[in-house]
Amino acid sequence: MVKIDKKKCIGCGLCASVCGEVFEMADNGKARVKAQKNASCIKEAIDSCPVDAISK
Ligand code: SF4
Repeated sequence: MVKIDKKKCIGCGLCASVCGEVFEMADNGKARVKAQKNASCIKEAIDSCPVDAISK
């Protein structure tokens, strides 16, 4: 299960841009998981996140 640590997230938007099928930006400016699925781009999102807020 993919998780985003909202305390760490700085709202850069990278996860949503590299893996839009799993992540989206919420109205509060933080990322959220929109669909739990096993997409290969999740790893890319984890690697892209500048604050290591995404875990799986
Ligand atoms: S890449 Fe990390 S810091 Fe950027 S929006 Fe996603 S979870 Fe937040």
